[in-house]
Amino acid sequence: MATAAQRLEEIRSTLPAGVDIVAVSKFQTLDAILDAYRGGQRKFGESRVGELLEKEEILPKDIEWHFIGHVQTNKLRRLIGHASIIESVDSERLLELIDRESLRAGVTTRVLLQVHVAREETKFGFSPEELREYFQGRRFEHLKATHICGLMAMATNTDDTEEIEREFKEVASLRDEILEMCPDLRGFDVLSMGMSDDYTIATSCGSNSVRIGSAIFGNRPTPSK
Ligand SMILES: *Cc1c(COP(=O)(O)O)cnc(C)c1O
Repeated sequence: MATAAQRLEEIRSTLPAGVDIVAVSKFQTLDAILDAYRGGQRKFGESRVGELLEKEEILPKDIEWHFIGHVQTNKLRRLIGHASIIESVDSERLLELIDRESLRAGVTTRVLLQVHVAREETKFGFSPEELREYFQGRRFEHLKATHICGLMAMATNTDDTEEIEREFKEVASLRDEILEMCPDLRGFDVLSMGMSDDYTIATSCGSNSVRIGSAIFGNRPTPSK
């Protein structure tokens, strides 16, 4: 059976130049993560605050931890300063809290704004319209300790590849619109789209950061409570 490092190598070789891989290591063992690490992988994605902190403490310090799960506000303070980027900022309220907590901790937090384009209502995120209003109104201007680095999105979980493509394209054109509205935005250049089943569609639509879990590590063990 292929190891995580071998699967990563295979995936890397198929991706267009300039596309980053975030290896989604949620619920995976330290050994599996270390295998990928030894293969050169440095960006890993976690969806729970406690799990990220535990792994961060034990694993090599040059790993960049991407937080990709829904942030519960009561756990936010523990996350600040430990995630290299929070990809899953899904409301303006959370953004304000991140700014306040980052200021308090004396750090700058990098974030992506999560856009909801999937048909499923279970997914989190800003609607495209909310984001247009947010940037049109330049409401990011008062943020002091938060750097918005781009957008993150998940497509509908479906076999309908045209639907997936339509959703990813919507996010890519929203990014273009935002940059047109706010040409002075600095470092707004990450488009995080694509998971194990749809990353090739995502990169063809302009994604430059894919979040891949099971295609690297195999099926996830069931999380313990
Ligand atoms: C779990 C997860 C992934 C990875 O999913 P796979 O299908 O295992 O690649 C990507 N993004 C987010 C936000 C996730 O929660």
